[in-house]
Amino acid sequence: MDGDHQRLIRQIRQRLESLARAGIDRAALGPLPEMLPVAVAPAVPRIARAETAQAPVDNRPEPKESEPVPTATPLPRRRPAAPTPPSPIPATLGSLFDEPGITEPVVPPEERPEALRVLAAEIAECSRCEVLCANRTHTVPGEGNASARLMFVGEGPGQTEDETGRPFVGKAGKLLDDMITKGMGLRRADVFIANIVKCRPPNNRDPEPEEVRNCIGYLERQIAIIRPEFLCLLGKPAAQTLLNTSMPMGRLRGKWQRYKGIPTIATWHPAYLLRNPSAKKDTWEDLQMLMKAMGIPIQKRGGGG
Ligand code: SF4
Repeated sequence: MDGDHQRLIRQIRQRLESLARAGIDRAALGPLPEMLPVAVAPAVPRIARAETAQAPVDNRPEPKESEPVPTATPLPRRRPAAPTPPSPIPATLGSLFDEPGITEPVVPPEERPEALRVLAAEIAECSRCEVLCANRTHTVPGEGNASARLMFVGEGPGQTEDETGRPFVGKAGKLLDDMITKGMGLRRADVFIANIVKCRPPNNRDPEPEEVRNCIGYLERQIAIIRPEFLCLLGKPAAQTLLNTSMPMGRLRGKWQRYKGIPTIATWHPAYLLRNPSAKKDTWEDLQMLMKAMGIPIQKRGGGG
């Protein structure tokens, strides 16, 4: 067997393992390439994911989300609905033979919490950004399930987050909690929440491009450790940074994107939703795309919730 055969087999195996983690144990595939030996067809063992959420990796709160904002309009309440079967990842997300995109070695699930703690400790000592480092109270590395299927990424810490060291704990964080719990039917501890910069920009200004460049490696390492199956990018800075584009949010949201091979949805930042409640409809549509792909039952929108 030559090198091309081995590489192809490795790609197929990685892809099948990824589908198995997403709860998909069968798929309608076209004919396999003739050169593919039959021997690679055997079933890929289903990879069990931790049933119970792991303790938050970091113990502190968050960002611009803490800016004064109008009273939140609650997300629609969930109503019981018949569960829908897990949905295959839409064909638009790529083919079976897509490169996974993350080249770092896989960290075993049981080692991920410690790997994230070590990284958080490294972030706490970071002084790459002179201004941010001088003004911060706490670094805010992120928190959540170290083997989360879904990872949310925002822009950066605000005042409350800087004070507590935890992401998304201000008013916008409350709305994100509602999106996760009331909207998606998950628990905050089921997902991982992080930002593209780990220190609060003074006066809640946008992070400078150099600050993003300084810090983005930490997020990349978090993603490589957690290996989320899906990403949800909150707001323009996170979406434009990770998707490497200058396209406006109106064109980025509402469709599947990919970050290093990971199916990715960009949507409005919760702080923006607090200022523009009419945009919640867009975000609910975006969350439903995620839920469908993740096999999460989509509930009917409740009135007046
Ligand atoms: S923002 Fe990131 S790179 Fe800059 S000082 Fe903080 S942790 Fe370091």
